[in-house]
Amino acid sequence: MKQNIDSFIDSHIDEMISDLQKLIKIPSYNQPAKENMPYGENVALCLDTFLEMAKSMGFKTHNFDNYVGTIELGENPELGILCHLDVVPEGTGWTNDPFSAIVEDGKIFGRGAIDDKGPAIAVLYAMKAIKELNIPLKNGVRFIVGCDEECGSSDLEYYKTKEKFPPMVFTPDGSYPIINIEKGQCRVCFEASFEKNENTKRIISINGGQTVNAVPTNSNAVICGIDLDVIKAAISQLNLDAKFELKEQEGFTVIEVVGKGAHASTPDLGINAVTAIIKLLSNLPFDDSKDFEYIKSLDKVLPHGDVKGDNIKVACKDEKSRELSLAFSIFNFNELGFEGHMDIRFPTCTTFDNVKNILNNSFSDININIKEIYGVEPHQTSEDSEFVQKLLKVYEEQTGLKGECLAIGGGTYVHDIEGGVAFGAEFPNQEHNMHGADEFIEIETLSKNSKIFAHSIVELLG
Ligand SMILES: [Zn+2]
Repeated sequence: MKQNIDSFIDSHIDEMISDLQKLIKIPSYNQPAKENMPYGENVALCLDTFLEMAKSMGFKTHNFDNYVGTIELGENPELGILCHLDVVPEGTGWTNDPFSAIVEDGKIFGRGAIDDKGPAIAVLYAMKAIKELNIPLKNGVRFIVGCDEECGSSDLEYYKTKEKFPPMVFTPDGSYPIINIEKGQCRVCFEASFEKNENTKRIISINGGQTVNAVPTNSNAVICGIDLDVIKAAISQLNLDAKFELKEQEGFTVIEVVGKGAHASTPDLGINAVTAIIKLLSNLPFDDSKDFEYIKSLDKVLPHGDVKGDNIKVACKDEKSRELSLAFSIFNFNELGFEGHMDIRFPTCTTFDNVKNILNNSFSDININIKEIYGVEPHQTSEDSEFVQKLLKVYEEQTGLKGECLAIGGGTYVHDIEGGVAFGAEFPNQEHNMHGADEFIEIETLSKNSKIFAHSIVELLG
């Protein structure tokens, strides 16, 4: 039977490629809603095209008002497989038209090739293989295809108002082997205000960072009253990993800092330009003032290099989901006040409420006000469950690689689905330019995914 599945997929690879090309050719990124099309015309067309493919294979399908579609294999779905047909916009830098779905060197290029249209085709053909080979299943499989993964997953919210998820769900919208833990997330906006500082030696402005979920690459400050030599001496004494550049401009000094960007869930991979500039400023001999006090306090609670929240006292870790991470991502300071943002990813040993209470205390100690705070609890599906163990077994058999569970700081499509894990579609150390220029999927990866999904269905339900 295992051989039958593999040869079925191998003999249908040309159809899989051509079906994937049909999907890639529809630029299904989020557009303004039209009547009965919550995500615009192209997303609805892509869903319809996909459900028609499934129907022509003999599957029962359902379209939930162009939010999400389902494709059923058998009755009483016990396993859900979740993919999405929406994509991010094409962006720039492509070698060829991002929607032409060109095939070259064993790869299919195009926006959505790996995220997540290729995996969706792999699932569909895995189901077709089982259906046509008449492999008996104890319970059914429900393939759920969403249309809003890239813009907030309102598709799944809609689905929940109509239907339940099966007890086991995997999504090939991440990477192998299995992601079973996703840290909780907390975003904070904090602020303070003060009187205008009339001292000679003072800070005029500080700006850095643009997105709350990224380690800021750049920052700058405008200051006055401090000699260039003094600033240079402080820079060399602090010996930070960021790059500093100084310019004199009409009696002011402009300090520009370049660090290194990274996703907020992996701040250890970046060099934070905001915390670097705060570190430098807090070490310069400004005249005493309320605003300078704030800079020194910020340097104490959120110092450069502290990506675990030790100094603001939220640091914690557990064995499986590891350490809390913290990125001070945006900072805007002027002569009357400042506003800052940070992004925290916390392990399963704590809760959003707990993180919130600690931040409240730490900030109120230094008279900083929390303006907004928002959080999502961690997601976890037991590693010891039969579901996860069987998926790992299939993965090992099919790839010869070691199967193991991973914990990540980012969220996947199953973050809010109980019993959900991410399983595929990227293999370890693969790079497919997801969300970037020249996104692609290897035909080999498409085929291997389809085989893994078919064998997983049989392992779980056969
Ligand atoms: Zn995706």
